Amino acid sequence: MTDSVKYVLDERDLPRRWYNIAADLPAPLPPILHPGTHQPVGPDDLAPIFPMGVIEQEVSQEREIEIPEPVRDIYRQWRPSPLYRARRLEKMLDTPARIYYKYEGVSPAGSHKPNTAIAQAFYNKQEGVKRITTETGAGQWGSALALAGSFFGLEIEVFMVKVSFQQKPYRRSFMETFGARCIASPSELTSAGRAVLAEHPDSTGSLGIAISEAVERSVERDDTKYALGSVLNHVMLHQTVIGLEALKQFEMANDYPDMVIAPTGGGSNFAGIGFPFLGEQLRGGRKIDLVAVEPSACPTLTRGRYAYDFGDTAHLTPLVKMHTLGSTYVPPGFHAGGLRYHGMAPLVSHVTNLGLVRPRSYSQLQCFEAGVQFAKAEGVIPAPEANHGVRAAIDEALRCREEGVSRAILFNLCGHGNFDMQAYRDYFDGKLMDLEYDDGEIAMALAGLPSVA
Ligand SMILES: *Cc1c(COP(=O)(O)O)cnc(C)c1O
Repeated sequence: MTDSVKYVLDERDLPRRWYNIAADLPAPLPPILHPGTHQPVGPDDLAPIFPMGVIEQEVSQEREIEIPEPVRDIYRQWRPSPLYRARRLEKMLDTPARIYYKYEGVSPAGSHKPNTAIAQAFYNKQEGVKRITTETGAGQWGSALALAGSFFGLEIEVFMVKVSFQQKPYRRSFMETFGARCIASPSELTSAGRAVLAEHPDSTGSLGIAISEAVERSVERDDTKYALGSVLNHVMLHQTVIGLEALKQFEMANDYPDMVIAPTGGGSNFAGIGFPFLGEQLRGGRKIDLVAVEPSACPTLTRGRYAYDFGDTAHLTPLVKMHTLGSTYVPPGFHAGGLRYHGMAPLVSHVTNLGLVRPRSYSQLQCFEAGVQFAKAEGVIPAPEANHGVRAAIDEALRCREEGVSRAILFNLCGHGNFDMQAYRDYFDGKLMDLEYDDGEIAMALAGLPSVA
C-alpha cells in the first residue's frame, strides 16, 4: 500500500459534467407544488425569481449536465480539491479503518458553497441579470455568493439574520470586501421586514424572515433574481463536483469507500459527495453505506415527517416533499448555524425514504470534542457543521477497532472553522450546552403542515 496521505488530481481531471441523480432514481421524485393550487409548478411559475438555466436543471432528467467553461475556469482556482488519508488520526484512534476526507475548506470562502454560487452567478449573468438577492444565516452562503458576484460583475444583496449579523461582524466584512451589500434582517427595506419590526422592534430575525425579504426584493425589479444556497435540485447537482473528483481520487488511491459520511443542513454537501457514489450503486456498481449526520437539536431526517411543506416561515415558497420539522419550528441556537433548517433537500429526503441513506444525529458537545481531536491530528480546524461528519467518522473508525475489521471511511470536511473561533471559545470555556429539541414545539409545527391530497 502507498504511504501517500494526499491525493491531488491534475487540473485536466476537473470534471466536465455534473452528475444528476434524477436519471438513476428507482422511483421518481415527487414534484414541486404550487402553494395555492397544489398543482405541480411549471418553469413559468419559477421564472420571476430564478434564471432559466437554473430552472431547466431543477427539472432535468439528463444524467450528465455540462459544466460551462467559465464556471470551470473559476473552479480551477481551488479545484480539484484534495482528498486526504487521515493517517495521523488513524494512529491516534489506533484503528484498522482507512479514514479519508475530502477537503472543501480550500475554496476562497472556506466551504463547499462556492461550487453552486459560481454556477448560479454564471447563469444569472448570462441571462442579463444585474442583481441577486439572498439570505444568509451563519454567513457562509452570503460569503460564497458575494465572491461569485464579484467574479461575474453582479450586485449582491444579502439579508443576514440580525442575531448573526451582530455576532459575526467578520462575515459582513468578508462580504463587503467583495462589494456585496449585507443588511441585517428584519430591515426597513422591505414590507416583510417593516411588518415584523412594527410588531417586534427588537426582533433578532430568522432565516424564514430573511428569505421573505430577499424574495420580495427580487420580484420587485426585472433585473433582479434570487438565489438559494442549498435544498433545491440544481444546488445538489452543482455540488456533485465534490464526489465526482473523489471517485477519481479513490482510483488513484487504489481503494473504494465502504462508507460515505457528511453533515446535513439543507443536504447539499451530503448530496455533493454522496450522490456520485450512490449513482454507481444504483447503476449496478458497488454498494456503499451512506450516512447523513444532523444535529440532535434539529433532527430533520431522524425525527421529521416526510411530507409536503413550505421552505420558509412566511409561506412564500412553493411546496416541496421533504423531511420536515414544520416550517414554523425554530431550532434552539446551537453553534452549527448552517444546520439549523427545518427541512431537507427533496432529493436527499427521497433517497432516505427509499432506504438508501442511514441518517443519525449527534449533540453539539460530542461534535466539538471530535472536531478538536481531528484538529490535533490533522491540523485543520473544522467548521462546527463539519464536526458532525467528523464525529460519525471517528465513531465508525472506533467500531472498526472493536470489530477488528478494516473499512474505508470517506467523509466530507465541508468547511474550515477559522471564522468560528467564538464557538470554539465557548466550547473551551464550558459555555456550550447540549440543547435538545422541544417535542411539543415540533408536534405543534407539524400540526400546521399544509394538507396536500
Ligand atoms: C451551509 C453549510 C452546511 C449546511 O448546508 P448543506 O446544504 O447541508 O451542505 C454545512 N457545512 C458548511 C461548512 C456550510 O457552510
